Amino acid sequence: MMLSRTDPQQRINHLAMMPCAVKEDLQAMSLESVQLVAQTLPSCERVSLWWLHENNSGFNNTVLYKAADGLINADAFLAKDAFSHFFSTLIQHRFIDADKACEDDRTCELLDLYLQPAAIKSLLSVAIMLDGVLLGFINCEYAASTLWNTEQRQFLMRVADQISLVYSQIKYQTLLTAQKVVIAEVSEQNNTQEKLKQLAYQCGLTALANRSALMEYCNSQIAMADGQLSLLSVDVNNFKSINHTLGEAAGDAVLVAIAQRLKHFFVANENVYIARVGGNEFVVAVSQNSNKMKLRLQAESLRHQLEQPVLLEDMALSIAVTIGICAYREDGLLTGDLLAALSLAMEQARCEFVPIKVAGQANGNNADVRRLLITQLETAIQNDQLSLYYQPKLKLDGETCIGFEALIRWNHPEKGLVPPAQFIPMVEKTRLITPLTHWVIKQACAQLQQWLKINPDIIIAINLSTRNLLDQNLPSFIKKQLELHDIDAKHLQLEVTESSMMADPERSIETMEQLHKLGTPLAIDDYGTGHSSLAYLRTLPVQVLKIDRTFIAEVLKFEHDRIIVESIINLAHSLGLQVVAEGVEDWETQDYLAGIGCDETQGYYFSRPLPANLAKYFLSR
Ligand code: C2E
Ligand code: CA
Ligand code: CA
Repeated sequence: MMLSRTDPQQRINHLAMMPCAVKEDLQAMSLESVQLVAQTLPSCERVSLWWLHENNSGFNNTVLYKAADGLINADAFLAKDAFSHFFSTLIQHRFIDADKACEDDRTCELLDLYLQPAAIKSLLSVAIMLDGVLLGFINCEYAASTLWNTEQRQFLMRVADQISLVYSQIKYQTLLTAQKVVIAEVSEQNNTQEKLKQLAYQCGLTALANRSALMEYCNSQIAMADGQLSLLSVDVNNFKSINHTLGEAAGDAVLVAIAQRLKHFFVANENVYIARVGGNEFVVAVSQNSNKMKLRLQAESLRHQLEQPVLLEDMALSIAVTIGICAYREDGLLTGDLLAALSLAMEQARCEFVPIKVAGQANGNNADVRRLLITQLETAIQNDQLSLYYQPKLKLDGETCIGFEALIRWNHPEKGLVPPAQFIPMVEKTRLITPLTHWVIKQACAQLQQWLKINPDIIIAINLSTRNLLDQNLPSFIKKQLELHDIDAKHLQLEVTESSMMADPERSIETMEQLHKLGTPLAIDDYGTGHSSLAYLRTLPVQVLKIDRTFIAEVLKFEHDRIIVESIINLAHSLGLQVVAEGVEDWETQDYLAGIGCDETQGYYFSRPLPANLAKYFLSR
């Protein structure tokens, strides 16, 4: 069955253009969406739209369209508790296609209260999600058993995404207004200020302290004359893949479980302060006299507690953690030094594949390792030990080379060719990332100057790190280099990851706006691994979205990944963004991506990153 009557893409674009500043707009948008769905999937008897009730207890049917009657009043309510399986399936899979809804175990919960009274035999349901929360869902309901194709499912998903986009914008507006209220109150009421402070120091999901609160706590311990302080950090292994494969709700459940287990483990110890300091990172500060041996034993039994399976709706999920330990000894160390030593211990644990790693003396080996690396790299920059490799980006015809991504390599005099994963993450945490990025920019511009003579259309993309985005001098540095090499800004693309923007969104956006004015194209790298919705990305001056290679790697194997990739492409296109798939390793994946309208591709299938003298052979393709 083909989509019919009107051009669905055009209609979705129409939805995208609707004004969206106040709640009424959302209602108008809901009505429009439901009618659009009813018109596009014509054999469907009913289309219903459901929203999360204010008190969070369930979902209200806010709009109902019947083929026989048109739009009619609806008042049904589905409680979360009563239909928990249906809702958790929706959250995990984003859609439910039950061709025999009364027998299907995903939907049969609804039989008595909803399916039978409304004479529904089959049901296609799609979640409206925002940042991992189920805000609502749209149902296409049929009086007979029905089968749906991918095109129809995707269409419904695009509508759902569009609704969540509008919702997020309205929420953002409301939040802005609310903040202006709150600010007025703060000046009058100290307790409001206290509350705000509390919120600013707390992680919303786990109610644990956050990084700022932890820093304050550690500072105050260190400031005490006889202060003692040891830190334990805990990371959940493979957390990203839990989020990807099981959904963010499962990821959240894991984080909440870890938080509870940490609290439980240390419940009898009042000298302990527990914080969630990042996505899947927790830190426990212990302010009592301890030694490495004791801490290690404690970490062993903590690990045992934390690695109990986490019970999700329909499965027991095994988890593993990595624990780093750092004991405070010397005077003159600051909290930042301790946290740096701790994260080095974690990095070492991962490199050595051990679950627990004790850092050396806080001012000892690890800090030295980093210092040594930095000194060596400084020399490397001066002595020409760095080089850029170039990986071709092609159009999906597999013929036309659009340009290259420049990827740094270190020709270490003893270790040989060192890949970026072994030094960039460490360099990114230091000021050295600035001269390193400057080196990359100069090098890429010099290369462009040569290559544009052979192919005047190509683009070279370089990677930027968090600190680069916070550097207000970056745009003028780039401008100068472009001028020096006589290159139009449109040839130098800048790749930034979502997470690199999140450190300080306001400042990062400011830098990006300036770069945009300069004319350099901006791309979001590793898209799908962070938490930002496309709705948020739309507010940024980016033109290109690179789908993270973890989605591409198994896209042919898992329908789940296909749905994600296809929805990203569709939604990105409706927002006017170009889509690049990275990590394409075989012809089948390439062929599939071409079929679903992806714009560009990059991966081992065409070429690994190459030194410039070999990469230039792609220029004339
Ligand atoms: P990235 O920006 O995501 O770059 C793509 C990485 O994927 C590269 O790894 C590339 O070699 C690899 N890759 C490309 N196609 C395939 C494929 O088909 N299969 C697989 N398995 N991998 C593929 P590389 O060169 O090791 O770089 C790793 C990361 O290091 C980059 O990830 C980027 O985040 C960072 N990086 C590299 N150069 C620079 C730089 O100059 N500055 C900064 N700040 N970061 C850099
Ligand atoms: Ca990149
Ligand atoms: Ca990437």
